[in-house]
This record gives sequence, structure tokens and C-alpha cells, in this order.
Amino acid sequence: MVSTPSLDKPQSGRSFLDQAIASSSPNQSLVPITTRLGDNDALEIGGCDVPTLVHRFGSPLYILDETTLRTACRQYRDAFAQYYDGESLVLFASKAWSCLAVCAIVASEGLGVDVVSGGELYTALNAGVAPERLYLHGNNKSVQELKEAIEAGITVVADNWQDLHILVDLMGDRPNPVRLMLRFTPGIECHTHEYIQTGHIDSKFGFDPDSLDAVLQFVSQQPSLNCVGLHAHIGSQIFELQPHHDLPEVMVSWLQRAQSYNVPVTELNVGGGLGIRYTEDDDPPSIDAWVKTICDRLSGACREANLPLPRLLCEPGRSLIGTACVTAYSIGARKTVPGVRDYITVDGGMSDNPRPITYQSRYRAVVANRMSAPASETVTIAGKHCESGDVVIADAQLPATEAGDTLVVMGTGAYNYSMSSNYNRLPRPAAVLVCDGEANLILQRETYEDLLRQDCLPERLVAKTPRP
Ligand SMILES: *Cc1c(COP(=O)(O)O)cnc(C)c1O
Repeated sequence: MVSTPSLDKPQSGRSFLDQAIASSSPNQSLVPITTRLGDNDALEIGGCDVPTLVHRFGSPLYILDETTLRTACRQYRDAFAQYYDGESLVLFASKAWSCLAVCAIVASEGLGVDVVSGGELYTALNAGVAPERLYLHGNNKSVQELKEAIEAGITVVADNWQDLHILVDLMGDRPNPVRLMLRFTPGIECHTHEYIQTGHIDSKFGFDPDSLDAVLQFVSQQPSLNCVGLHAHIGSQIFELQPHHDLPEVMVSWLQRAQSYNVPVTELNVGGGLGIRYTEDDDPPSIDAWVKTICDRLSGACREANLPLPRLLCEPGRSLIGTACVTAYSIGARKTVPGVRDYITVDGGMSDNPRPITYQSRYRAVVANRMSAPASETVTIAGKHCESGDVVIADAQLPATEAGDTLVVMGTGAYNYSMSSNYNRLPRPAAVLVCDGEANLILQRETYEDLLRQDCLPERLVAKTPRP
């Protein structure tokens, strides 16, 4: 467990590292698990010197530690093997970070992938993820997306009546039914940011539980729908075990109902949502504890109901990849507002990490080329975008810095690249995968040409554009 740093002694990046790595579960660590102090007082991740990576690949730079990601995948799988007697499958919620390399890594660890759009599906298929391990979510799937899912032979998680009606239409008299799961709102609340709660009744996701009978009745009469399972997802960045302690019993009651309609449900998907440690104030349970809670409760509920164990699925996103990545920025301009605060500015911000401005998320940072220097000032780390709210970290404790220093923000693997934008026409950063001292580019830095790739200048405007 990571302890809270003592406040009386100024902390250096180096003393922070001593306390930041949790030996057990990656989601409880503040930094990638291969992080250490390297040569020249520099931060090292995956055997690579971070300032050197920035020199080579530029900044901002997403640095993804393969070992941390693979360790989290294995911990999920090992925990299911240990605590559950039935079959299980862990899916990566790819909305957390959808790109070819990430999909390929999780698939090579035996995970499936869940996707929420045609674009994420296209990415996963191109990464070589097997269709039988792909699940399509979404509260407003287009006809085209559902068609793509049917053609790829993946499982569709129906969210609403529209999904079911479109599927029946699209299936027509195709010989093989589509593999289907049904998502219901479990009516379980959790304590997290309201934008990322999904399990409460007033949610845009999933069928209302009051419609259970009607939906099962409908599905039972459609030969083109092979309904194999039920799904629920409570929310994201959850630190309590209670909601997932309560969920299996609710889902087993649905499962019994499905059987009464002769819908042969053999899979339950309990969703994702386990939180990670972004700062010392966060205290999520371990992957092992989360999986154990679900397995124990589901096994117990099945025993009581005298049911065979269903195939058990879950679909974490953040807790698989969140801690595995850091973002390296170059420090630029500084502004002192006398008696108020000091701003230091980095060369990215809300375009590469929209979480602070969207959810008021907090992060931890170190100066990667001054790891032994004690924190001597409180500064607000601002992004370079035209929004006053574009703050990466308010009131960060940092050593004295200069323009050109490398600032590294921890815990940026989930919902950073995937929510990134070109706001202010900033090209999206590159991403490198680091492992055992090797660094491989997995996302190229966007160029100015990339920014103009989709632009069209109508002919009649060309003449009016003054030439420089
Ligand atoms: C977002 C989401 C997940 C993953 O949530 P995390 O908090 O990243 O684990 C899983 N399932 C569904 C349906 C989701 O919407």
C-alpha cells in the first residue's frame, strides 16, 4: 500500500517514487510498475530514460508501459481462475484506449475486447482480435454499425428496443442467428462523478429493469436472436466494493426470469468500473479483491438459486490501462501573479487530456530530469489552450523548473488519448510503447497535413483567399 507523504519534509520526485509503486495491483500504484530512478537523475519507465524518449519522439508524448498493462491483464485472469469454478472471460473496454497496439496486447493476454462504435470495432478487428471475443455496446447503435457487427460475427449487447428491432430487420432470414446479450440498468448506485455513473435507474444506458419481462418475451420469439447473456455496468472509477457485491444477486434474479421464458442465458457480464489511484488520496481495492467479491457473490447466489454457474464476463477499461501510461510534456512559459499563484505552462493540455476540465480530475506529476530536487514551490500546471479551465494540475508541488524541463503526468492511460481532440489545431501526440529498454512507436504524432486532411476548400472560395 502507498502511504501519504509526510507534509513536513519537501518531497522530491525520487522520494515520491519510493512510495508510489504498489507491489500488488497496478491499479493501486501511482506510477507504471517498472518506474525507477535511472541515470542522470532521470525518470525511467520500461527501461527507457524518459527525457531521452522526449528528445527522440518529441512532446507531448504518451508513454505506455507494456509490463504494467500485461500485469493488469494477467491479474484479472488469474483472479478469475482462482476464485471462480465456471468459465470466465475478461474483456478490455477499448473506449479507454482504442488503437491497434493496445488491442493486440490485450488479445495476446487472452482477453476479449468490447467496442462501442463501428470505429472501435474496425480497430479491434484490424488488430486481429477474434470475433468470438468481441462485444458491441452502445446506447444508439446505427443500422450500419449493427450490420458491421452481424457481418463480423461478433456479439451484440442490446441496449434498447431499437437495437432489437433493427437486428431482427437486418437478420431477415439469414441462416445463423446473431449472438446477443441484453443490457439492463441494475438500479445500483455508486459514488463517483455523476457523468460516469451508469447503474442508477435514471441512466441513458440499458433497458429499464421494469421492461425485463417484455424484452425476454420478445427475444424468446425471435429465431434470429440467440440471446446468450445479460449485462450490467454500474459506473466508472469506483472505489467501493459494495456495488459489485450487490450486483450478482440482482443479475441472478434476471437470469432466473430469462429461464422462465426459455431464453437460454448462460453468460453474465458484470461490467467494469474498478477505480485507479491517481493521487495519494485515492484508495481503490485491488483487482484481486474486486474479482473475488464478484466471484464469491455470484457463486453464492447461484448455489442458493440452484443454478449452474454461468460463464462470467467483466469488462474493465481504466483499471487495465490507466496506470500503464504517463504523459511527458515540455515545460514552457511561466507566469507569476504576485500574491496569487505561479503558472507553469506545458505544450499540451485539454487536447491530450480532457479529464481535468471535464471531471475535475486530479493527477500526480514529477519533473523527469530533476528527480532528486526537493519540491520547493507550489505551482499551477496549465495547458496551452485558449480556456482558463485548461489546467493540468492545480497547486502541484514541484522543484524549481526551467523551460525545457520534462514534466511527466502519471495515470494517463485511460480516457486520455481516446478522448483527445485537435482543439486549437494541436496535432495529437505520438505514443510509444516501452518494454525492457526498447521503445516502439504505436501512434505517430499528427502533422499539420493530417490536420488539413479532411478540410475541403470550395472552389469559389479559392480565388477570394488572399495569397500570402
Ligand atoms: C465505460 C464502460 C466500461 C469500462 O469502465 P471502466 O471504468 O473504464 O472500467 C465497461 N463497460 C461499459 C458498458 C462501459 O460503458
